[in-house]
Amino acid sequence: MTPADDAQQLLDLFGVHSAGKLVSYSPINGAPIGRVTVGDPDHACGRAAEAFVKWRSVPAPRRGELVRLLGEQLRQAKPVLAKMITLEAGKILQESLGEVQEMIDICDFAVGLSRQLYGLTIASERPNHRMMEQWHPLGPVLVISAFNFPVAVWAWNSALALVCGDPVVWKPSEKTPLCAELVMQLVRGALRGFGDAPEGLIQLVQGERDVGAALVDDPRIALVSATGSTAMGRAVGPRVAQRFGRSLLELGGNNAAIVCPSADLELAARAILFSAAGTAGQRCTTLRRLIVHESVAEPLLARVRQLFASVKIGDPRAPDTLIGPLIDQAAFDAMIEVLGDKLERADAVPGGFYVRPAVVELKDQEGSVLRETFAPILYALRYRELEEAIALNNAVPHGLSSSIFTNDVREAERFMSASGSDCGIANVNIGPSGAEIGGAFGGEKDTGGGRESGSDAWRAYMRRQTNTVNYGSELPLAQGIRFDIAP
Ligand code: NAD
Repeated sequence: MTPADDAQQLLDLFGVHSAGKLVSYSPINGAPIGRVTVGDPDHACGRAAEAFVKWRSVPAPRRGELVRLLGEQLRQAKPVLAKMITLEAGKILQESLGEVQEMIDICDFAVGLSRQLYGLTIASERPNHRMMEQWHPLGPVLVISAFNFPVAVWAWNSALALVCGDPVVWKPSEKTPLCAELVMQLVRGALRGFGDAPEGLIQLVQGERDVGAALVDDPRIALVSATGSTAMGRAVGPRVAQRFGRSLLELGGNNAAIVCPSADLELAARAILFSAAGTAGQRCTTLRRLIVHESVAEPLLARVRQLFASVKIGDPRAPDTLIGPLIDQAAFDAMIEVLGDKLERADAVPGGFYVRPAVVELKDQEGSVLRETFAPILYALRYRELEEAIALNNAVPHGLSSSIFTNDVREAERFMSASGSDCGIANVNIGPSGAEIGGAFGGEKDTGGGRESGSDAWRAYMRRQTNTVNYGSELPLAQGIRFDIAP
């Protein structure tokens, strides 16, 4: 079946009518697979603001019930939604299933969280006073998502936003609009089961970046959670700041792995294959720089080259494929810009851009290695001292993910210490990609500084209120200030 036939079947199954100006193309063969209607940002923001007034007063555990129902919908639809991810984003089916599983996981997490939106009690310096902190719903949340995680990023944000009391407006990538349409059908199913959620609580606004920009500028949006390139974040961040809105930026990465002399080289090589070549190098956490100790560089690089040469590249719908296509011609051009005629094209489905992952050995960390090229290119550098390796890890503009392969506890701890990796994520004996939802996800510097998903990332979706209550009959002032009225 062609991707278009497959997509039509899924659209029919979900009752989605394919029509409108925005065309979706499958990276499998570059052909159109469906159309969607471009949304109206102003209308969506108005509805979200109205929904907020009602939703913020619904008790949080009851809000959690809606997310629980969404999780149920996702469980049932997992295999079919995964198929659409594969058709539209080009990921292999295993990774698409993993993406839907992540949505389910964050729903489960958020349901529990809906009973744990804890504030603090604080010791007051004044007698007969009590201080506490409460967390209140913030307001409508705009979720801008990227093509490479077409639905999980929406779920990470929305599951938390909804239990926190915030309506959600979603501007998905213009490259993956059909995945978003299917998710919205599941949302409708969950809303029906819930019963009395306000109109406009969860909305989808399809469109290109102009639609995203109009939403970003709307003062009714309290939080802009934007996932995508650093260039996008540079445009979005200052605009939100200008109107004193809040933003949560999840931008590009240029992630490294350090391989030490004591490392289990076979384990490292397998992790490198998944992190550098999996998803055709199109993850924000993709391994792009390998910093390997000179004593183990030869055997490790030989093994990595062997794995890269043998990995099956092809139609991501086929069960034995490990690497699918690049998203489009622009991604292919970016890879050529780095590799030139060394780029090896894989013979797969006509019309798609299938490439073999490449290793580029460098003496110094300069030039294109300092940028994020969203393709499977692994730069390899050698080091002598761990300090030098950590310095190389940190010497790029991005600060998303990092990892070290070592069986030496001192090296591992040094890497994770305050003077070690400067990234939001620092792993030991696993690659930099493939995070679980339980941890806060995000990174520093050009990665934008935002954190979403697990841990206490929920706080970004709420406003903090400090309360001081005087239950005495005197009025003592803080800091011992005297402000007495003359008798
Ligand atoms: P992109 O920046 O081209 O687009 C991402 C989204 O932003 C799209 O929905 C797009 O329409 C929107 N957008 C672009 N410019 C905008 C603007 N000026 N105003 C409002 N919206 C705008 O990114 P992409 O090619 O879809 O995705 C790949 C990039 O995303 C890579 O850099 C990757 O590292 C990054 N990414 C980061 C994370 C993370 O969590 N840190 C996750 C996935 C992808």
